[in-house]
Amino acid sequence: MTKANTAYGQSPTGGIAQRIKGLFSRSGRMTVQASRVASVDHISPDFTLIRLEGELFKAGQWTAGDKIQLAVAPGPVGRTYTPLSWNKQRGVAEVLVYLHGDAPGCEWARRLTAGQDLQIVGPRSSIALNALEPTTILFGDETCFGLALALHNLPGAGDVRYIFEVGDAVQADSVLSSLGLRGALLYERLPDDHHLETIGSEWARLANGARSLVLAGKASSIQFIQRVNKTSSARIVQVKTKAYWAPGKTGLG
Ligand SMILES: Cc1cc2nc3c(=O)[nH]c(=O)nc-3n(C[C@H](O)[C@H](O)[C@H](O)COP(=O)(O)OP(=O)(O)OC[C@H]3O[C@@H](n4cnc5c(N)ncnc54)[C@H](O)[C@@H]3O)c2cc1C
Repeated sequence: MTKANTAYGQSPTGGIAQRIKGLFSRSGRMTVQASRVASVDHISPDFTLIRLEGELFKAGQWTAGDKIQLAVAPGPVGRTYTPLSWNKQRGVAEVLVYLHGDAPGCEWARRLTAGQDLQIVGPRSSIALNALEPTTILFGDETCFGLALALHNLPGAGDVRYIFEVGDAVQADSVLSSLGLRGALLYERLPDDHHLETIGSEWARLANGARSLVLAGKASSIQFIQRVNKTSSARIVQVKTKAYWAPGKTGLG
């Protein structure tokens, strides 16, 4: 295992360092490190579970909910994912990639094979899952299954209600169950986001007694639930949000 340890913001040298500096320039001063793909499991038509290994997973300070950025195509092109597990002792972490279409991150995950080298930036803070007051509600979509599993795997997370908008509830339930998360509430997407109206109309019941709210996934859905929560009789005061994607935008970090 090689370790690149190129410190951006200091003095990157050489072609690859320069190109990666451009890629992650929005991240500011960062370290790009080398890792290796330990295994790739295409666990369903739309989800790929990737196990990564390397020294950085032994040394890195990871908090559940942190993100990592992976170089998924030459350029290089970077994409952001949320480790669902991080084993410091073994130097292994896992990410679950949702294959939403033909974009670079999806193509990369479809073609990936065990043994490939991979450049990674992170971990970096995103949503600190260790600072939530139970009961927690986590709302998101398929891109947030990793985040949800990180919370599910977190000792002491307490009672959590998982609510997802998804394209295929049967597949989503099968994927989540196979990774140990059962009982999530799944709302299949409807034209004009009518499923969100349904969630909104049920919010007082869904949120009853909850003390913290995590909103991630599609930007407009997060905004919708935020509005619903603000005016609800069951309003949750502790709210953490992070947009994972928005239509027409690429590679949100
Ligand atoms: C902090 C953070 C953590 C994340 N963690 C994960 C994770 O663990 N697993 C995961 O799968 N994703 C995760 N994402 C989301 C992922 O980074 C984006 O979906 C990203 O756009 C994927 O790159 P891409 O190359 O597939 O698509 P892009 O090239 O970025 O986008 C191409 C087009 O697809 C659209 N698009 C992007 N995502 C979706 C989607 N889910 N459904 C429909 N259209 C979409 C874009 O808006 C754009 O129009 C995370 C994002 C952030 C910011």
